[in-house]
Amino acid sequence: MQTGYIGLGAMGAPMARNLAQAGFLAGVWNRTPAKALSLADELGVTAAADPAALAAQVAVVFICVSADADVLAVVEALLPGIKPGAVVVDCSTVSSVTAQRAAHLLAEKGAHFLDAPVSGGVEGARQGSLVMMVGGDAEALVRVQPVLQAVAARIVHFGPSGAGQSCKAVNQIMAAGIAQAVTEALAFGSAMHLPMEQVIDVVAGGAAGNWFLQRRGKTMVAGSFQPGFKLCLHHKDLLLCRELAQQLDMPLPVTEQTIADYATLMAQGHGDEDISALYRLKLADKAAS
Ligand code: NAP
Repeated sequence: MQTGYIGLGAMGAPMARNLAQAGFLAGVWNRTPAKALSLADELGVTAAADPAALAAQVAVVFICVSADADVLAVVEALLPGIKPGAVVVDCSTVSSVTAQRAAHLLAEKGAHFLDAPVSGGVEGARQGSLVMMVGGDAEALVRVQPVLQAVAARIVHFGPSGAGQSCKAVNQIMAAGIAQAVTEALAFGSAMHLPMEQVIDVVAGGAAGNWFLQRRGKTMVAGSFQPGFKLCLHHKDLLLCRELAQQLDMPLPVTEQTIADYATLMAQGHGDEDISALYRLKLADKAAS
């Protein structure tokens, strides 16, 4: 089964590499052509002229772009080339409504759309160990399962179009709380002049240990905030969570705090840093008090 990959950013490029390694990748496309040309050259696949040309070449099209409007723009652009029966697998984090709209557009061409957001970070994307939360047609999912297994270690179907994104919203709210807790605790430890590398090692091995602490703890206390996961992207996700929570009449205080904190960091020019840059604010709070 031949696939194409659209959106060769921090997540998309390593996922495309894993598809190529498993023998599934025929071609790639990226908005900034240089990235597509360089990865196509590395992997020995085609750099398509546009999304429609890529779609015409393959049975499965992966997408991993930034936000809702970007997914819809890419889906619109690939429609002229999509084959009946083809499956589009969108690994971006967007709203359930966007997933449903994309599914509708593809259904008009006799093709399927699976919302398939992922978790596991750039490390998970590199290792092919992502978890994938899927919404959409169950039969289409069964058909593409072998290619999904090249990028994800766990693939779970949650129901119709949009259901994968609903699960991802749960993940993003939890990630916000973990980022708040870890950055606050590590700033507290630093303020006590503790040996932070040792603190992180010991805490990571106990009940408070978690993915974010293990992978971003030492870099954040060293003042390095390379993405990773850009905080402007998590900000975009949390705005979607806020919208859902308003519909459910449910307060999300930690999410609200994180939206406000990310807005502050974005205004200071840190939007393209990793979410661990929240640590900057915890240090600033201490300096201000
Ligand atoms: P990234 O490194 O910023 O890459 C974004 C990609 O989307 C780039 O290839 C970019 O093209 C492309 N793009 C953006 N707008 C586009 C448009 N209008 N048309 C075509 N292409 C467009 O972001 P990322 O970290 O890979 O994240 C991608 C998605 O995965 C996001 O929805 C994010 O929330 C989600 N996600 C990220 C992580 C993570 O840890 N990073 C984890 C799970 C999920 P250019 O090269 O031209 O800019």
